[in-house]
Amino acid sequence: MAVSLISTLSEVVATVSDPEIVSSFTTDWTGRFTGHADVVVKPESTNQVVEVVSACAAFGAKIQIQGGNTGLVGGSIPPTKSGHKVCLVSTKSLTTILDFDEISGYLTVGAGTTLGQVQELVRAKGWDFAVDLAARDSATIGGLVSTNAGGIRVCAFGMTRRSTVGIEMVLADGQVLSNISSPLKDNTGYSVADIAIGAEGTLGIITAVKLKLIRPVSETTLFLVPAQSMDGALELLTKVQSTGHQLLAAEYVDAVTMQLILEQSNLRPLWREIPMLTLLFEVAGENVNLNFPQDSLGSSELAEKRNYWQYREIASDTWTALGKVHKLDVSVAVSDIAEFEISLQNLLSTFKGIETFGSFGHLADGNLHIEFVGPAIDDFAADYAILKLVAEFNGSISAEHGIGRAKREYLSLTRSRLDIEIGKQIKSIFDPTGLFNSGVLYVD
Ligand SMILES: Cc1cc2nc3c(=O)[nH]c(=O)nc-3n(C[C@H](O)[C@H](O)[C@H](O)COP(=O)(O)OP(=O)(O)OC[C@H]3O[C@@H](n4cnc5c(N)ncnc54)[C@H](O)[C@@H]3O)c2cc1C
Repeated sequence: MAVSLISTLSEVVATVSDPEIVSSFTTDWTGRFTGHADVVVKPESTNQVVEVVSACAAFGAKIQIQGGNTGLVGGSIPPTKSGHKVCLVSTKSLTTILDFDEISGYLTVGAGTTLGQVQELVRAKGWDFAVDLAARDSATIGGLVSTNAGGIRVCAFGMTRRSTVGIEMVLADGQVLSNISSPLKDNTGYSVADIAIGAEGTLGIITAVKLKLIRPVSETTLFLVPAQSMDGALELLTKVQSTGHQLLAAEYVDAVTMQLILEQSNLRPLWREIPMLTLLFEVAGENVNLNFPQDSLGSSELAEKRNYWQYREIASDTWTALGKVHKLDVSVAVSDIAEFEISLQNLLSTFKGIETFGSFGHLADGNLHIEFVGPAIDDFAADYAILKLVAEFNGSISAEHGIGRAKREYLSLTRSRLDIEIGKQIKSIFDPTGLFNSGVLYVD
């Protein structure tokens, strides 16, 4: 049967079945998730995706969808074992630029176009795309939409949902659902395609996305500010917000993470001693003066700003370099972040087996990326304890990375039974046979 599936696929699409090459697609960015696929296909058009879906459905194979494979919760990796053949659909060749309305600022691209490619394309024409994140050169637009990615500009422009105005998606029966040609004002009932935003590939394969662009904020001032507590950081955040300058980013890196960054990179220490928190604020306007403490650093120079950003952007990869690190991405109300952080410190500093822990994240969104090493990679006791703490604070167990395979068992901590039940019904309407991303988001 495998030969028939692969030969059928080979007739319609670029197909890879060499186990060594296939295995290069089945480990995630962090090395924490590994799975098994029998074949990888790289469709270049929506029609080819339709052919792939139809062939897999006919042969009873499952489909694992993968974009840039930068997701951090294992959602882009197939399961280790399944009773079915698994076809990994790499969307990376879906890169056609379908339409660029340079007057109104709408761009329609193939789902495999990377964020970096979109940025380059639109910036050359005086536009910008509102979502930005460190994995920009690999992460695809389809991946961004499927995870409703956040990133460093959420406090100014919202998450990917706010910039997504149309989606084309191939469904399990091979039909193509699309609203990319709909007029912008269209209040004619449910916006069915929008449900694919944040669905983590469980409803279908997104083949094209229509994006709403923004005008770039070209003049900005970036500050690096030391703080000795989360309360102090929040005071500074409130101060920046009350100046009336448009806030483009408000990030933090804790002392443990900064120590690792300095050890592993060529970046120079910013101050004689690493502060408890290094804050990064970017506001619109050139050479803005916000009267930060004297030892703060600020610049409107492009090269210097790029250098400053590195102290935040390499944080995730710095932890990843330690080995198989535990990674959580949680959020609480901004007003609770200081109290949450103290409870987290208390929890992790006494938790058996934890050797090192730290965090960094998006201060203005109450979003903490918590990382720790020590427990075996399949020992989730500390992860669970943290997520329970998050639930006690009425937070979210996934602020922006999604649920994937990593957190599906914990979904009920912060989502109600009714919510999960309705979600599963939606999945069964779109994908009654469980063709797509089996075991992602919900346990099968
Ligand atoms: C260094 C680094 C920094 C990061 N920073 C951030 C950050 O600041 N904010 C943030 O939100 N995330 C961040 N991420 C996580 C990641 O970049 C995002 O989740 C991104 O949106 C994933 O895009 P991708 O193309 O790599 O998707 P993948 O990892 O390939 O897939 C992610 C999920 O989307 C599904 N999917 C992908 N493409 C499609 C498609 N066309 N149709 C249907 N389903 C699809 C997959 O099946 C999977 O479930 C970071 C990752 C790294 C490595």
